Order: sequence, then C-alpha cells, then structure tokens
Amino acid sequence: MIKLFRFLKPYAISVAAVLVLLFFQSLAELYLPTLLSDIVDTGIVKGDTQYIISVGGLMLLVAAGGAVCTVLASFLSAKTATGFGKNLRSRVFSQVESYSLHEFDKIGTASLITRTTNDITQIQQVLIMIMRMMVSAPMMAIGGIIMAVSKDATLSLVFIVVLPLLAAAIFIIVKKSIPLFRSMQIKLDKLNLVLRENLTGIRVIRAFNRLDHEKKRFNEANRDLTCTAIKVNKLMAVMMPIMMLMMNFTTIAIVWFGGIRIDHGDMQVGDMMAFIQYAMQIMFSLIMVSMMFVMIPRAEASAVRINEVLGTAPEIKDTAKVKRADSKKGFVEFNNVTFSYPGAEQPAISNISFSAGPGEVIAIIGGTGSGKSTMLSLIPRFFDIDSGSILVNGVDVREMSQESLRAKIGFVPQKAVLFTGTIADNIRFGKEDATDETVKRAAETAQATEFIANMKDGFDSVIAQGGTNISGGQKQRLSIARALVRKPEIYVFDDTFSALDFKTDARLRIALKKEIKDSTVLIVAHRVSTVMDADRILVMDDGVIAGIGNHKELLKTCTVYREIVSSQLSEEEIA
Ligand code: ADP
Ligand code: MG
Repeated sequence: MIKLFRFLKPYAISVAAVLVLLFFQSLAELYLPTLLSDIVDTGIVKGDTQYIISVGGLMLLVAAGGAVCTVLASFLSAKTATGFGKNLRSRVFSQVESYSLHEFDKIGTASLITRTTNDITQIQQVLIMIMRMMVSAPMMAIGGIIMAVSKDATLSLVFIVVLPLLAAAIFIIVKKSIPLFRSMQIKLDKLNLVLRENLTGIRVIRAFNRLDHEKKRFNEANRDLTCTAIKVNKLMAVMMPIMMLMMNFTTIAIVWFGGIRIDHGDMQVGDMMAFIQYAMQIMFSLIMVSMMFVMIPRAEASAVRINEVLGTAPEIKDTAKVKRADSKKGFVEFNNVTFSYPGAEQPAISNISFSAGPGEVIAIIGGTGSGKSTMLSLIPRFFDIDSGSILVNGVDVREMSQESLRAKIGFVPQKAVLFTGTIADNIRFGKEDATDETVKRAAETAQATEFIANMKDGFDSVIAQGGTNISGGQKQRLSIARALVRKPEIYVFDDTFSALDFKTDARLRIALKKEIKDSTVLIVAHRVSTVMDADRILVMDDGVIAGIGNHKELLKTCTVYREIVSSQLSEEEIA
C-alpha cells in the first residue's frame, strides 16, 4: 500500500494541514479535562463565580477551537482521499488501456472492474482513517496517560490492569477478522464475474432455459459473500459492546478507588472527573488504532490487487526508436510468420508468407479454426509473433508506433462491436472529425442507408449498449462504414460479409470496389462467391497455407480449395 501513496504527492500540502489541524485538536481535547477539574476544585469549592465564568469561557473557546480544527481536517482529508482515488483510478484505467489482449486474459475483465472500483474505494477509506488517526490516536493515548499520571499517579495503577486486557481483546478480534476481510475481496470478484456473464449472455441464458441454473450460480456467489460479510460484521459488532463494557468497568474502578482516595483527602473531586475523561480518551484511541489494524490488511489486499494491475507491463510496447512508414503506401507482407497463443501446444498459424500491395484484393478462405482471424489480428499487432516478420509499408510492425500502425488500418472485426450512442457517433468512431457528408457516403457504400432511413431518427437513432437493437447484418454494415470513414491504406475485413444476404453482399462488394480501389484489401470469407474475383486467394488449412493463387489456378492446383468450392457451387458454376 505504501507504494500507492506516491499518488498522494499532489496532496502533500493538504495532508500536512490535516495532520497539523488534528495535532491542535488533540491538544484541545487533552486540555479540556484539566480545565474542568480546575472549575470543580477551585471554582465550585471556593464558590468563586467569577473564576467559574472565566475558566468556563476558556473551556468554550478551547472546545470551539478543537471543533473548527476537526471540521477543517475532515473536509481536507475527505477531499484528499477522493482526489487520490480519482488519480489512482485514472492511472489504473490508462494502464489497462495499454494492455495487449494477453494481459486482459490474465487478470480477467470482471476482476479488472472490481479493482478499478471497489478496491480503490477500499484504499480511499483507509486513507481517510489513517490521516485522521495517525496523529490524534498516539497523541491521545500517550498524552492521556501523561495527564492522568500527573493528576494522580496512584490511581493510574488501574491502567496496568485494564490496558493489557483491552489489548488482548483487540488482538484476538483483529486476528480473526483479517483473513475474513481478505477473502471478501476475492468473493466480490467472483460475484462480479457471475453477474457480468449473466448480463452479457442474458439472451442465450433465456433461450436455453438456463435461468434457474444461473440464478443458483448467482445465489451461491452472493451467499458466499454475504456469509463472510456477516461473519466479519458479527466480529465488529461484538467488539463495540466489549469495549464499552471495559470502559464502563474502568470508570467504576476509577470512581471506586478514587472515592476512597478522596475520602482520605489524597485526591480532589475535579481531578477524579478529569481522570475519568483521560481514561476514556486513552481507551478510545486504542480502539481506533485497533480499527485501523482491521482496515489496513483489507486495504492491503486491495493494494496488492491494484499494484498487480499497475505492475503488469503490457507485453506489446513501442520500441524506443519508432520508424515512420510513409514512403510506401498500403503494402502488407508476411515473411514466414509463426504464431502461437500463450499456453497453446501448437502454433495457431505457421510459416505464413504472402504479400499484398495497393489496389489488390487478397481473399482468405478456409475452415473454422484454421487461423484466419488470428492471421488478420497480427497486422494491427494485437499479438506479437513467435518468428518471422510482418511488414507494413516495408517496415516491421514491431518497429512502428502502435498508433501510427493502426492509423493505417481499417479493421472490421469478425464480431461487430458497437458503442452506446447514435449511429452517426458509431460511424464517426473511425474518424472523429469526419464530416456529415463522409459519414453518409460511408454508410451508403456499406449498404446501410436503407435500414438507417427506416429507423425513427435516421443517423441520430440511438444504438443500445452492445448494439442489441439492430440485427447482426446491420451491425456488420455499420462497422464496415466505421472503417470506411477512416480512408485507411489497408482494409481488413474479417468474415464481415457472412451475416449479409447474397444480394446485399454482392452490392456491397461492387460499391466497395469503387470506393477503395487504391487501398489494399484483405478479406476473410466463407463464401466462394465472395472470394472468387479476388486478385489472389489464400487457402488456409489448419494454420498453414494450402495454396495461393486466383480462382482458376487454385481450382487446378489446390485440392482443399476444390473441396470448398464443390461443397458450395454446382458443377456448371465451377466451370
Ligand atoms: P478462424 O478465424 O480461421 O476460424 P481463428 O484464427 O479464430 O480461426 O483460430 C485459430 C485457432 O486459434 C483455433 O484453434 C482457436 O482455438 C485458437 N484461438 C483463437 N483465439 C484464441 C485465443 N484468444 N487464445 C487461445 N487460442 C485461440
Ligand atoms: Mg475467424
């Protein structure tokens, strides 16, 4: 947790101010019982009204000063802690944004969400507590003991009995609650995971009638968390009455023995009253410290989780000296590329070599799981390859900055992802400053105008979260339009036409051809009709290239291609 306190740096002044304010507040609290004993022993005993009024006035002043310090300190510490939380959250967020896909898989999305929200809140709370306790608790405890001893050293022997008892009780409770607090964070993660899966998969869950099963799964996670929370809270609940009981017994003991001492004339009534207040202050500060001991391990668990996020360096980083790749436009070249997913036994693709230039359409066809999507995801450098090299515009992708590399690419993923916002917003996602004209044109090329016009507000129609209010094919067309507004050098379409009917597919490809004739186009497709007129076709089979060539050549030379074709087209069409 100490490591995280570096984010407090901008707040150094207000932290210092809080500590100073609380120092004065503690002084005021320590001074008040002494004043009280003065009033009782000097003022009341002698019947000196003037004295009572003047000391009473001083008491009011001191109390008011203490109150002002407390209010200011509370305000500042709350402000500091929330500011700290905000900074830390944005730091975690930008770290997560720099992650490559590996790191996401490693920590898990649900856990990343908990870490950015709940875990940071946890630390924020402890921070407030530490700031408030750090100065006042030791001052009240030590100062209280000094003051009590100075009032009456003999009566202070009560503390020798009480304080060890109190310490033992605190120790036992803290020791029991720490592991419980630790496991709560993990259980919260689990709950988030189940909830997230449920919310994103609600359609599938309903369709397969798995509601009950999912409900059970959620209830289990929920109950698990609740049980632990109840256990912890029971402990905390027991702690308070035990402490109160001890405090009250201490008061009784002080009054009892103090009474005897007063009887013998060894002590004055006012001193005893002050003594009781000091005893309360001492014990209360010990309780506060013990609460801190409970909270710190919990926050520590959170801190470890946050540090893990901050400490996980993204595997894919820009090199120190990035090269610009602007001289040659739209060239993509794979040289003997082999890549395997982490933990996989076999490479997902191996020994892939091909090249594509501007104005060329390269189609990639092959069975599911043959490595087509994998291959395309290597071009924007979502993953780093094991061996070989991938060149874009003649420069290795590892030597470019990721930003400049990705700016050259219009990527249309296999699974269309849209964002909450209007249709125009979503298309403009490809290029923020695209004009209305460009947006419209992109939608037209993507064959999306028709269904957009049919929606209530046209381009301003709102897309629900995850794009659930439009169909799969419509989503795909919008994500094509999103890539088109960028006017990139290289287009990558990953199986983007599969959810379109044949007619739209054909129209779209004709429109695309006109629009992007100077760019390099890589298309993954399942339909032979989609790939047939490509300049070159790559036939993928189990992670390797089974053949490269145009339709006619491949029909002659490549058995895998022939099989795919004959499964889709009739004999006449092939000829
Ligand atoms: P295609 O797009 O041709 O259907 P993919 O490129 O998606 O095939 O997948 C190729 C292989 O890589 C498959 O065997 C799949 O199981 C594996 N694979 C795909 N994505 C991942 C991933 N994120 N982690 C591990 N293995 C993966
Ligand atoms: Mg795929």
